[in-house]
Amino acid sequence: MNEFIALGLSRPVVNAIEKLGFERPTTIQTQAIPKLLQNDTDFIGLAQTGTGKTAAFGLPLVEMVNPSLPETQALILAPTRELCLQVSRELDLFGQFQQGLRILPVYGGADIGKQIRELKKGIHIIAATPGRLRDLMRRKAVDISRIQYVVLDEADEMLNMGFKEEIDEILQETPESKLTWLFSATMPEEVRRISNQYMVKPFELSVGQPNTGNDDIDHQYVSVRPKDRYEALRRFLDYDKEVYGLVFCRTRRDAGELAEQLSRDGYRTDALHGDLSQAQRDRVMERFRSRHLRVLIATDVAARGIDIDNITHVFHYNIPEDLNFYTHRSGRTGRAGRKGISLVLAHPKDLVLIRRLEKRLKTQFSPVEIPSGQEIFEKRLMGFFQRIKKTEGHQAIQPLLPQLMQEVEGLSREELIHRLASMTMSRGMKAHLNGKELNAKSKASRSSTNGIELFINIGTFDVEGKSGFLSLVCNQSGITGSNIGKIDMSSKHTFFHVEEAAAEKVIQAFNGSQFQGRELRVNAGKPKNTKKSNKKKTFKKGKKKFQRA
Ligand code: AMP
Repeated sequence: MNEFIALGLSRPVVNAIEKLGFERPTTIQTQAIPKLLQNDTDFIGLAQTGTGKTAAFGLPLVEMVNPSLPETQALILAPTRELCLQVSRELDLFGQFQQGLRILPVYGGADIGKQIRELKKGIHIIAATPGRLRDLMRRKAVDISRIQYVVLDEADEMLNMGFKEEIDEILQETPESKLTWLFSATMPEEVRRISNQYMVKPFELSVGQPNTGNDDIDHQYVSVRPKDRYEALRRFLDYDKEVYGLVFCRTRRDAGELAEQLSRDGYRTDALHGDLSQAQRDRVMERFRSRHLRVLIATDVAARGIDIDNITHVFHYNIPEDLNFYTHRSGRTGRAGRKGISLVLAHPKDLVLIRRLEKRLKTQFSPVEIPSGQEIFEKRLMGFFQRIKKTEGHQAIQPLLPQLMQEVEGLSREELIHRLASMTMSRGMKAHLNGKELNAKSKASRSSTNGIELFINIGTFDVEGKSGFLSLVCNQSGITGSNIGKIDMSSKHTFFHVEEAAAEKVIQAFNGSQFQGRELRVNAGKPKNTKKSNKKKTFKKGKKKFQRA
């Protein structure tokens, strides 16, 4: 039996699914669809984009909404215009054999008059951004008083984007009898609050663990100095011509500048950021979707709702300021069962943040090396020769072959190949030959004892030599001397190696605590301004204090 039928879906809906080419349900679909079809419970699905969550709620919705009732029965709230459009497109496809079913996306930045006219025609399912829906409600253009289902899609994103008030206002207008289905990649406090306030004993489902990454994503990082970051990114793009990637920057300005620089260097790229008009955004997205662009540079906010299934790489040009963004960024790859790479171009001092991410996502980040110029050069050359093997000789050249052979007579096979290879060397390839080593020998990188090097602003002025330092660190953080490797002390600060697993404990134990009236700082590697910051004495109330060992 078709597995979708086994979940309780009807033939017309399953026919639509088959037409779409879905062969079997994804995990979240298998678990959510039968539950939602029971039509008697609120529901929380912890799932990232890419898991098939739209169909997990969309299939039951098109199944249960009644097209012969002339009223809006389901409302889907989503954070962005792109997501509204995507959801509505998918639901249109799922419901293509449900006679008379009408689905409409409404979102900000588009002609509200036109949306009002469409709504008047009678819509069964609305997919809306919260801001626009509230406007429409205030204009009495939409009636949600008989809604049976509310779906909060990417609830964490909606709250991140500041839609708290709108969501509250909207939910208060819906009838008590409705069912609420909430989907979210992460479960921060605010999302919990919504569920506590508006949902009754929700059935909770988690695909993978909450706040964790997706198994199809390979998380990697490189340690690179900021001044080499641009060149490092180029190396990755040049090394693998199949990269179809998204690069995240922290600010619009960084995104714009990076896109400009890459364009100047010959890459098919553009930036997607908040300064663009909706029409410009659409154009950029369309060019990326159709592969006219190979690399899209985006800010966190602008990239919300990007739904492209075959992105091979997500690059983090900087680690995100808010580590929660990492999940959303990396979730743009590894979608629909395909594998993807999420690569952080980390400042040597960011290693501690990487460790924090590992804990949070319960996954490992693998350190990778930036390809050397020589490696890229060799790969390109080999690629050229592999293509030679695959190329069929053109028939127009066939009759000229004797003449051509004559031209190169006297050259050995080796000489011929050597010259041919030399001729294929583009300017870019030659430039790679002179490329310098970019991998930062990071203070914070894994040491030979598989530890990381920490800095602390305690030195020989404060404790009696290495043994005094050791006992201080061990007593305060609860780790043992065997967790600590090389110790390098100066009068006011110390660098010391700690096993990775123990490093976080040390940081937690010391950071922000006070020592002889001085605020302590521990971080990976050497801070830029050690001298000055050591002199600075901070006395803060409420900080952790500890006794000298
Ligand atoms: P979503 O998590 O809803 O953003 O879905 C990610 C992508 O997976 C979308 O392009 C869907 O069309 C696709 N998809 C969803 N369910 C299935 C399925 N059962 N089989 C194959 N592809 C699917």
